[in-house]
Amino acid sequence: MTNKISFKQSILVVCLILMSSFIVFSQVPDFPWPDGKRMAISLSFDDARTTNPTEGVSLLNEYHVDATFYVLPSRVEENIEGWRHAVETGHEMANHSIHHPCSGNFGWARPLEDYTMDRMRDELMTANKEIKRLLGVDMVSYAYPCGQITIGRGENSQSFIPLISELFLTGREWLSEAPVDPWYCDMAALTGMKMDNKDFEEILPIIEAASKKGQWLILAGHETEEASKNHSTKLSFLRKLCEYAKDPKNGIWIAPVGTIGKYVVEKRAEHLDKINIPQITRKESDNFILKAINGKGVGPNIKYMPEWEAFGWFMEDDRVEWDMEVETSGVYNVYMEWSVDDKEAGKGYVIEVGNKRQVGKVEKSGSWETFKKKLVGQIHLKSGYNRVVFKPESKFGEGALLDLKTLTFQLDTADQ
Ligand SMILES: [Zn+2]
Repeated sequence: MTNKISFKQSILVVCLILMSSFIVFSQVPDFPWPDGKRMAISLSFDDARTTNPTEGVSLLNEYHVDATFYVLPSRVEENIEGWRHAVETGHEMANHSIHHPCSGNFGWARPLEDYTMDRMRDELMTANKEIKRLLGVDMVSYAYPCGQITIGRGENSQSFIPLISELFLTGREWLSEAPVDPWYCDMAALTGMKMDNKDFEEILPIIEAASKKGQWLILAGHETEEASKNHSTKLSFLRKLCEYAKDPKNGIWIAPVGTIGKYVVEKRAEHLDKINIPQITRKESDNFILKAINGKGVGPNIKYMPEWEAFGWFMEDDRVEWDMEVETSGVYNVYMEWSVDDKEAGKGYVIEVGNKRQVGKVEKSGSWETFKKKLVGQIHLKSGYNRVVFKPESKFGEGALLDLKTLTFQLDTADQ
């Protein structure tokens, strides 16, 4: 809150709009898709199926729509000319492993239960080299065969998402139930929704909902033929989809996963330091800085103010929550960074971590524009997950508590 004159008027407006209490303000702006587009779509096809470089590519080329093909080198070799034509006409070639390992429950697959991380790494690199040799392209995208993200079994099982994150720009799952949120997503775990054996009318509501939210819909299929089969994307479906996606009034950017992935990564790098996206804070050398930008503002009035990197409009029914992961349990010094107008100073606040509470009064900082950082007490943190809640100690009626920028926890005495 930085403007005293408009303060009360603004409260009135906010109160009129929000008659219900406890609304979470996400305050995330629409994703800046290029040329004013409202959403993005990627078409993707797995396994380098026979009908992809023939029927599939020729239909897509008719509409100048580029897709992503997650290929297996052995299948590419069966129609090398067809796949070279797909590359030349702009389609993305992407990694789908070398042997298509899936759970042993499928029977036909090399079982992921018997994989180790170095074996997985070797095979992924081999697939990259093989496709470079066959088609001359460097692959930046990966799709998890059968959509499976773990290797090993039981207590030895582990996710190989970190390996995909290291080796590729993007990783795509399969049979997901939601499109990708471009601000929030893990680039190595993008959702992929099934388009096999669907009619356009079945997918249209998903497109319309994704458009309202500015999302990225990655559709995933296999064969490209007219037959109604569980692993075939119908040509009639693709035709209607391409026509719809290419119609400017629908505001859709349709492009391969790698192209859109690169754009998303760039835009996030430009904007993410200004957008309040709640996320867990992890260890920084026994020193945790809980920043407003990573906190969750809960309540009828509270708002994240990017220009101050702080939560403002903090009134009696508002609070901020942070999640954090602590390595060393012990007593931590707590520093608060805040600002407050002298007339609003003096109200009680409480910092809660589990059943521990640290209570204090908001001291003067000089003005709303002047932030101050000060040791305000000590609190015990357990190792592992902790939720930190900052809120007013009691109801105070009119006015605001403070603008809150950071809470810092610095290890003082580790538990014995
Ligand atoms: Zn596959």
